[in-house]
Amino acid sequence: VSAAGGEGSALFASVAVPIPVRRTFTYRVGPEASRHLAVGARVRVPLGPRRVVGTVVEFPAGAPGADVEVRDIEAVLAGEPPVEPQVLDLTRVAADYYLCSWGEAIEAAIPPAPRQAAARRLVRRAAGARASSIPERATARRRAFLALPEDGSAVPVGRLGAALGAAVADLVRLGLAERVEAKEPHGEPSPRAVLPAEPRLVPTPGQSAALARILPAVSADEYAPFLLFGATGSGKTEVYLRAAEETLARGRGVLYLVPEIGLTPLLVSRLARRFPQALAVLHSGLAPVERRRAWDGVRRGDTRLVVGTRSAVFAPIPDPGLIVVDEEQDGSYKQEDVPRYSGRDLAVVRAREARAVLLLGSATPSLESFRNAREGRYALLRLGGRVEDRPMPVVRIVDMRGEYRDVRGVRPLSRELTGALRDCVAGGNQALVLRNRRGWASALHCLACGVRVSCSRCSVAMTWHRSAGRLRCHYCDLERAVPARCPSCGEERLTAIGEGTERIEQDLREALPGARIARMDRDTVRRRGAHEAILRRFDERRIDVLVGTQMIAKGHDFPGVTLVGVLSADQALGLPDFRAAERTFQLLTQVAGRAGRGGSPGTVVIQAFDPGHPVLRSAATQDYEAFYERELGYRRALRYPPFTAVVEVVVEHRDLAKAAAWSAVLADAIAREGEGKLILSGPGPAPIERLKGKYRMQILVRSAGRRRLVESVGRALEASEGKVPRRAVRVDVDPVSLL
Ligand SMILES: [Zn+2]
Ligand SMILES: [Zn+2]
Repeated sequence: VSAAGGEGSALFASVAVPIPVRRTFTYRVGPEASRHLAVGARVRVPLGPRRVVGTVVEFPAGAPGADVEVRDIEAVLAGEPPVEPQVLDLTRVAADYYLCSWGEAIEAAIPPAPRQAAARRLVRRAAGARASSIPERATARRRAFLALPEDGSAVPVGRLGAALGAAVADLVRLGLAERVEAKEPHGEPSPRAVLPAEPRLVPTPGQSAALARILPAVSADEYAPFLLFGATGSGKTEVYLRAAEETLARGRGVLYLVPEIGLTPLLVSRLARRFPQALAVLHSGLAPVERRRAWDGVRRGDTRLVVGTRSAVFAPIPDPGLIVVDEEQDGSYKQEDVPRYSGRDLAVVRAREARAVLLLGSATPSLESFRNAREGRYALLRLGGRVEDRPMPVVRIVDMRGEYRDVRGVRPLSRELTGALRDCVAGGNQALVLRNRRGWASALHCLACGVRVSCSRCSVAMTWHRSAGRLRCHYCDLERAVPARCPSCGEERLTAIGEGTERIEQDLREALPGARIARMDRDTVRRRGAHEAILRRFDERRIDVLVGTQMIAKGHDFPGVTLVGVLSADQALGLPDFRAAERTFQLLTQVAGRAGRGGSPGTVVIQAFDPGHPVLRSAATQDYEAFYERELGYRRALRYPPFTAVVEVVVEHRDLAKAAAWSAVLADAIAREGEGKLILSGPGPAPIERLKGKYRMQILVRSAGRRRLVESVGRALEASEGKVPRRAVRVDVDPVSLL
């Protein structure tokens, strides 16, 4: 749609801008702009005292009322291509459904302009610089200096926040800090990670059966959704790749979504070898220039196979004929900031609009997707068994209560797991040990008064990181020194409780002298490339035992692993979140699936305090359907998804009374708009009552009618405008975490 109106005719455009106000704004199109203005064009417009970049979404037929002051579009951004109609439509759906503004949804859909590359500028402390040389009254400079790592490593200037940006410039001028040029991060895995040339695989009977259903659907050019359900190692990737080949051969594009690129370096290299001409990799870890370059190639149709993380669902592929969502159950498809969209769910929308084949794949499908398949909304394709008929692992559950009864000075590693690890390493095999908590200990507890050392900004215990010698809050990153005495009662009786990966690593070293042990968690992979380096070393068998958080459960395939140990497997079951059981089952099944590759059967040792728990039992037998039936029964009885849709509303403020009052106003408005057809829980304190200095009041709204639910909450937010500040309200449609 072009706006090429006649000379002198007044012309108006509706512009979506990235602010949290859910409406568009009307501007006048000047004669200069009108020549190249189309729907989707990126424009600079005045908004109050500011100027913002927005997107033209419509040309309204009539002029606005005479009482409305209409300002001019200042400029059409020449460097930014217009947003494609298909992508624009998808952002509209996202904005309506996730209750954000259209402008906010559009910003999430397009790569940041390369000029924002300035945000990647790095800064570090100058050698020998001391905080003591900064006068006390220069508080901004002091804060900026203290925000830079003590060890002299460089951090992006942008991470320090706008408020400290000017202070950083002062520090540089005074010689206390220095700027460093950021190296362009690598978007693609290093060539060293490339697998040896892949033999052309003969499909298993299961793969052939699945392809016999999928390939005709690809040829039909119609929307056709499939759920590909198969255990780890059953060969789902090969099915995706053959479907992709067929789609590309028909001249249509392929969108291949994965939870995290960093976890799948081998997949990317496999795709690169199979489709050398067609592949583009899109994810937010790319440098802006690089991301824009890949994006432009996709727009032009040069690269028709896009592999990427959730935001790639908005990739401007001209005509997608196949959309793959691998590990569709993974929580990282959900964006935690505005717009809080699910890449998987938008992929379904996009596939339908584009008349594409949709392949959702998982070894442990989300309850939502599996129920969709059961009820016929998706075609269910099962991939039975494992490739090459590898045997399923033997699973043993260790009762840690017995361990505490029988062993004096009990250690986190049970006798059984320790023995199995020794045998494994002695036999020249590899082991994975999962402990889904990082740090040395999850809390310091006072034996005199019973208090835990908590974060001053959040209502959570601080984690002890022993090698760093600090306590850290895992929710706001606040740090403090390890206190010698209890901050509450002053007694010197602090004890560490809840061992984390750092402690387990130490215990493994003591239990397995001579074994090569490494740890993978967010603390050890902070440095760029560190994650990949650990995986490579493990893959090359230069590590015997890898201990880590859920990171070790995801996305890679190590033929040398014959033993998997899981510590405190049932701990997360107690979390106040209706998905706690589902997440525990998925994690256990995923990590258990890593054992016993390449011929030798594996062993899985699961340690728990409640070894009879049905979730552990189902995971131990890899019985998804037993888990599914039981869990579905609970969800039905308690009216949780997939039987209802959920919207979580959290009101946050430093002042508890304000948060409470505003949440009451909102809850009333939601109840009124819902006309008695919604289930409201709260307002009440959120499971984490205080976060980053703000109190949080939570309202959960549920309804079997998804549309009614979202629309009612949307109207309630509008109705309470002026009474409840929008900044204080966080709305999450289909939340993945309720903590
Ligand atoms: Zn105390
Ligand atoms: Zn905190």
